[in-house]
Amino acid sequence: MDFDLSEDQKLFRASIREFLEKEIQPLVDEQEKKGPMGREEAVSLLKKFQKVGLGFDLESLRAMGQDPVNLGILTEEMFRVWPSAAGIVGLSFPAALIHLGSEDMRRRLLPRVERNEVIGCYAITEPEAGSDNRAMRTTAILDGDAYVVNGTKTWISNAPIADLCLLVANDQEGNRVFLLVEKEVSPYETSTLHKLGWRAAPTGEIYFDNCQVPRENNLLEMITRTFSNPERLEELGLDPEKAKESLPRLMNLMGRMSVENVIFAFLRSGMALAAAGLSQAALDASLEYAKQRTQFGKPIGRFQLIQEMLYDMAVLTETSRLLGYKALWLSARMDPQARLMSSLAKGYACEAAVKVTYDAIQIHGGVGLSDEYPLERYFRDARMLTIPDGTTEIQKLIVGRELLGKGFSAYA
Ligand SMILES: Cc1cc2nc3c(=O)[nH]c(=O)nc-3n(C[C@H](O)[C@H](O)[C@H](O)COP(=O)(O)OP(=O)(O)OC[C@H]3O[C@@H](n4cnc5c(N)ncnc54)[C@H](O)[C@@H]3O)c2cc1C
Repeated sequence: MDFDLSEDQKLFRASIREFLEKEIQPLVDEQEKKGPMGREEAVSLLKKFQKVGLGFDLESLRAMGQDPVNLGILTEEMFRVWPSAAGIVGLSFPAALIHLGSEDMRRRLLPRVERNEVIGCYAITEPEAGSDNRAMRTTAILDGDAYVVNGTKTWISNAPIADLCLLVANDQEGNRVFLLVEKEVSPYETSTLHKLGWRAAPTGEIYFDNCQVPRENNLLEMITRTFSNPERLEELGLDPEKAKESLPRLMNLMGRMSVENVIFAFLRSGMALAAAGLSQAALDASLEYAKQRTQFGKPIGRFQLIQEMLYDMAVLTETSRLLGYKALWLSARMDPQARLMSSLAKGYACEAAVKVTYDAIQIHGGVGLSDEYPLERYFRDARMLTIPDGTTEIQKLIVGRELLGKGFSAYA
């Protein structure tokens, strides 16, 4: 077992840090005060990130796919600097699915994907279906060559500015269907929600009213179509023979874990590392302040009660990171254990970040509460983490069910 980053991973982390500090950090305060980014601002952000290899073009995807640890490093580092930006970029992931789209979709959208100009969102939550997403009411009924979508989605990150939505709905047989909904082709309405943290990241509702989505945008069909076309596989840089062999394995794994669980395992591992990044920012700021702030004639870092808080913050941050990387490693292998570990990591690390950022304010005293310092934002941003992608309570129930076995689901 090797806990060290490789030389390449260390170089990657150093280059991301330098980029974030130079190009992203200067934007944070003003945009957080302004509120949710508009589409133009978000696209310019996405284009900046492409410079360091974070894009949905094939070259960036291949580079990122080669080493999932780099994805973890990127998440940690981005959340250390600016969670709102990290959310906008990360939740644009449905843009990557355009590579599996129909010829028509690829012709229209791939040039924009190449320039990293496509903003995506992932929509499952509904007003009456939050933790219990089986209560979902949005329908996608197949009528000839199109699905007709009706329903409302809520709390969707990027919804007000997204070009593309990966939508989860019920089909005519009541089965889950995943559709890639392109706003220009299948128009829908949105509104904006305002929230405690991640203030620069737009979040909103989506209203589908007889929205027509081409049948060819069904995600499972897109995957099957691509994998059964050797020319397309070659264009994607995949070996057709290997891909032919791996399709049944992929489908089998997806069937075992379900598409939704595969997506959630990645999102939850990412959330754990996001929390570790934010905790690290609060810990770093507190260490610096504890050395520099003097009271009773000594730096406050010499007081044992301050050291106790620093101990707690360090152990919570380090444990979050270890759990996050283990969950990411299992998710990248599509290992069924990823469900348990990603929930364990997400539940633990997000609560840990709330405690770490709370203590960071305490160590800073009055200035910790001032918006002249980033501590109050760290705390607000950390508080956001315990709800999306499954609340802490739901993570506990998933872990309980995974540990105890099928008959023990608390919410079945
Ligand atoms: C900032 C933000 C961004 C988001 N982004 C997205 C997105 O991009 N896409 C998307 O689809 N969704 C998104 N969501 C929605 C998010 O996934 C839901 O908010 C979350 O699943 C909780 O649902 P809810 O808010 O309806 O709370 P509820 O499900 O109503 O829960 C209320 C409370 O009851 C508890 N509870 C519920 N059931 C149980 C149970 N069985 N046992 C014990 N306690 C229980 C919960 O833990 C919580 O404390 C986002 C949410 C936020 C806040």
